[in-house]
Amino acid sequence: MDLIHHKNALKSLLKQRRNQNNIVGFVPTMGALHQGHLSLISIAQQQCDLVVVSIFVNPTQFDNAADLENYPRGLEEDLHKLKENFDNLIIFAPHTEEIYDSQLTSETFAFGELAKKMEGASRDGHFDGVGTILKKFFTIIQPDKAFFGEKDYQQLLIVKKLVDLLNLPLEIIGCPISREENGLARSSRNKRLTADQQKEAGFIYKMLLKAKTNFNNKSISTIIDSIEKDFKNNSSFKLDYFEIVDAETLNTAQQVKKDKKYRAFVAAYMGEIRLIDNIALN
Ligand code: AMP
Repeated sequence: MDLIHHKNALKSLLKQRRNQNNIVGFVPTMGALHQGHLSLISIAQQQCDLVVVSIFVNPTQFDNAADLENYPRGLEEDLHKLKENFDNLIIFAPHTEEIYDSQLTSETFAFGELAKKMEGASRDGHFDGVGTILKKFFTIIQPDKAFFGEKDYQQLLIVKKLVDLLNLPLEIIGCPISREENGLARSSRNKRLTADQQKEAGFIYKMLLKAKTNFNNKSISTIIDSIEKDFKNNSSFKLDYFEIVDAETLNTAQQVKKDKKYRAFVAAYMGEIRLIDNIALN
């Protein structure tokens, strides 16, 4: 396993290792690694000859200073997990100054409507921050394939759009959501929940399953009303949004069309911690 902190060192290593037939895969992460991240890396290793995993908490995608400060970090533990589970990874863990000059600013991207809904509406500038860091990483690494979790499904669509906008020869692969036994989607932020909260947080997945079960026989507004009520009656959560949308455009679904795919999306606070999740409905 190679651990690299500087972009020029990464570029030279890739230049040495890359040949015409190599497929280079890239898995971007913000560290505090869990099984969800490891599942992405496994998929990347199955499909690629060389895999680069980045560990970098990207400041420009946070709209809230406290959230950035409290974001869990632990490079040693992350490296240990990677060594235990994988051979032959290239780990890129740059310092902020290596990636951004003195100003921590985002580029603005023409993501259009996709970036205005849900996470885009709730977290100002979030997707421009994501686009900014990924453009930088894609330029340094020049991967053939990059792997993203459906856990952040809106981000996955935004990244595909970014690749279109930049016209990159890069394939974006979406990977399934890895969950705890109670259905809670694995997330670095779960580390900040108490053991009791982690147990209770299975409720979020229950609500997604409720939407899925009712999708074929109840109207969308009935489903959403009922789930919003369930959240109101559960004092452990403060619901930010629960939406049922077209899985391609993320436009709110009013009436279901047979040839379209739909997903339910949820964001809810447990205390200070904001949790997001989603599920395919058909
Ligand atoms: P993060 O470190 O939270 O920025 O996540 C890095 C990548 O891992 C993103 O593509 C996420 O969508 C993905 N990811 C995070 N949690 C999960 C999960 N529970 N299952 C699958 N992928 C995940």
